[in-house]
Amino acid sequence: MALTVQLSERQQEILRRMVEEFVATGEPVGSKTLVERADLRVSPSTVRAELAELDGLGLLTHPHTSAGRVPTEAGYRYFADDLLGHLEPQPPTFPLDLASTSTEVESALQATTEMLSQVTQLTALVPAPPPDFCHCSPKICVRGATQPFADRVVLVGDCGVTRLYKDGIGAAYRTSKAAAVTAVFEGVSEEDFKRKYWPACQYLSRDNQIGQIVFGVTRLIQKSRSLRRGVRRMVTEEQQKGGDERRMSMVLWDTFTGSAPYRSVFKRSLHPAFLSRFLWDIVAGNLSPNKKDILEERTG
Ligand SMILES: Cc1cc2nc3c(=O)[nH]c(=O)nc-3n(C[C@H](O)[C@H](O)[C@H](O)COP(=O)(O)OP(=O)(O)OC[C@H]3O[C@@H](n4cnc5c(N)ncnc54)[C@H](O)[C@@H]3O)c2cc1C
Repeated sequence: MALTVQLSERQQEILRRMVEEFVATGEPVGSKTLVERADLRVSPSTVRAELAELDGLGLLTHPHTSAGRVPTEAGYRYFADDLLGHLEPQPPTFPLDLASTSTEVESALQATTEMLSQVTQLTALVPAPPPDFCHCSPKICVRGATQPFADRVVLVGDCGVTRLYKDGIGAAYRTSKAAAVTAVFEGVSEEDFKRKYWPACQYLSRDNQIGQIVFGVTRLIQKSRSLRRGVRRMVTEEQQKGGDERRMSMVLWDTFTGSAPYRSVFKRSLHPAFLSRFLWDIVAGNLSPNKKDILEERTG
């Protein structure tokens, strides 16, 4: 809803600069700063007089702690309703159709670049994604943000830090919860998020590093016939015996479902009872391979 106050062009210009400066810095703005930074072509004394006028109209106010001024709610409202709309006309919609480019990144980039160039009438260069950019579709998160927070801003879920390979939804829940708890009980400054939210992200990032080792070992096992025979034998015996002692089965389950932190999987796979049993099954499985091993190796 527009306010009924009538401002001169100069007052409108000063109010607009004032709001922009305050939003950019978060600090009360003095007349001197306004003249210097906003490149206003009027003297500081004129600006001071206009600021006092805007103050009187209830569009600006003086915080007790500063000589500068800040916009009031009415000031923001005037800025949003009366000033923003006149700044720049809305650009025309881009007639960009990427549907025909299918999922090919190169064709989509080419179409985007040509359209940008036409619209801006400038040479447009769109950098190609780096070589290690994830090319699967839809995209999945491959690494966490270096700093998923700032003053009054916090990134959660895939935008912040998520679990590598598994349980992204669980990770999104955990980071959202940590962010909400921080915002409600601590505050929303960068410092608050760094102290209370960042440790939750770091926990996930470190767990991902251990996850990379765990998945590295599973790839090694997939490539090695002897190790595959050992795993198969150990799992088969655990399933036949029943009971709670299903070390290999649980390690595999937790690795491939993401049901437990990777550090827990890693720790369990280093347990002496696990390792000695696995070693035994590698030796025994290779000395007398069962029919399933031989069939799998023949059929690939
Ligand atoms: C193929 C695939 C399979 C997966 N399988 C599993 C699984 O089985 N189990 C599991 O736990 N995790 C799985 N994940 C990971 C999981 O989906 C994500 O980790 C999780 O959804 C992240 O939640 P999020 O809220 O951070 O982001 P999202 O769930 O991606 O939500 C982001 C939302 O923001 C919207 N959005 C984006 N940009 C804008 C914008 N500019 N304006 C407005 N809205 C916007 C998007 O439309 C989306 O709705 C899978 C991921 C993929 C890609």
